[in-house]
Amino acid sequence: MNRYDHYSLLGHNTFRMPVSCACFIEYDSADELAQLDFDALPQPVRHIGEGSNLLFTGDFPGTLLHARMTALKYVDMGLDEVPVVAGAGLRWDRFVEETCRHGLWGAENLSLIPGEVGAAAVQNIGAYGVEIKDILSGVVCYDTQTRKKCKFSVGECGYGYRESLFKETAGRYIVTSVLFRLQRKPAPKLGYKGLENLQPSSPADVREAVIRIRREKLPDPADLGSAGSFFKNPVMDALSFARIAEAFPEVPHFILPGGFIKVPAAWMIDRCGFKGVREGGAEVYEKQPLVIVNASGSATPEDVLRLEQRIIDGVRERFGVTLHPEVEHI
Ligand SMILES: Cc1cc2nc3c(=O)[nH]c(=O)nc-3n(C[C@H](O)[C@H](O)[C@H](O)COP(=O)(O)OP(=O)(O)OC[C@H]3O[C@@H](n4cnc5c(N)ncnc54)[C@H](O)[C@@H]3O)c2cc1C
Repeated sequence: MNRYDHYSLLGHNTFRMPVSCACFIEYDSADELAQLDFDALPQPVRHIGEGSNLLFTGDFPGTLLHARMTALKYVDMGLDEVPVVAGAGLRWDRFVEETCRHGLWGAENLSLIPGEVGAAAVQNIGAYGVEIKDILSGVVCYDTQTRKKCKFSVGECGYGYRESLFKETAGRYIVTSVLFRLQRKPAPKLGYKGLENLQPSSPADVREAVIRIRREKLPDPADLGSAGSFFKNPVMDALSFARIAEAFPEVPHFILPGGFIKVPAAWMIDRCGFKGVREGGAEVYEKQPLVIVNASGSATPEDVLRLEQRIIDGVRERFGVTLHPEVEHI
């Protein structure tokens, strides 16, 4: 275990905000985590992964924990379904790459999503028609309230769209490892635009196609700081949608169960003319207006917050809809 005081977080958030925390602790096992005296640490105590869904709005006054468990184990019993266990600190895309290399189906559509395995289970990450909940069998945690290890079956994790029990309980559970069930028999999911014409002979073929599509429209955190999609897509009732559709008949939309309607936030932001708009070093990404990027490399939290507010105000004025951030402000 390593502990650092007054630690720079520049390398721990993909937005590359120049902020620090009072205390940063990296641990190597669930047992080490259980030995920590949480009450004696600078408060509040939070856990982070790669910081790819976070906006630090300033220096963090408390303690940030980070897992370094990166093991990946296959429990191969010669059956079609192969149980796989991954440490919470393993890079998510490393997990996908390795399981694809083993010829196992399940994670390939989730290629190239930044972050770590533990956070992926917290976030219920999703892309190209697959969510992580579809390939999970359980999540192993440390309960900071009871100070005990515990395990949740996938049904107990409360998964919804980017939602989970772990998000709802605001840091109570720290994910230490994640159990997956992957398939040996071909099980491609090709319903998503751009994948329909693929005839993959292996999960690696799908992974390659997904990576190609993602690289065309999303910034690579290694080159350009961002936290991915900044806003959630708004969901509205039929009356609110009708008001928008009357003024903008071309509005793209998806009908959800219960008669609610989802409208892409990217379309609204684009319609307000925000592509390429800047506040200080923060900019609305030209190729995908749902993403705010650290265009100058030296954007501050204040720049991002000003741009966020400008977008929220602009969309509300034009469409009467309030956008909410998907990126967690911390
Ligand atoms: C360019 C880009 C593209 C992206 N594309 C997608 C996409 O296609 N689909 C998608 O779903 N997301 C996407 N994201 C968002 C992001 O990658 C995911 O939300 C990812 O799972 C966050 O992982 P992380 O390790 O960076 O977690 P962090 O951002 O560090 O943390 C996220 C949350 O998880 C909690 N947390 C972290 N680790 C643990 C742990 N071990 N135990 C308990 N809680 C923990 C944190 O407290 C926080 O609440 C994208 C982001 C970027 C920058």
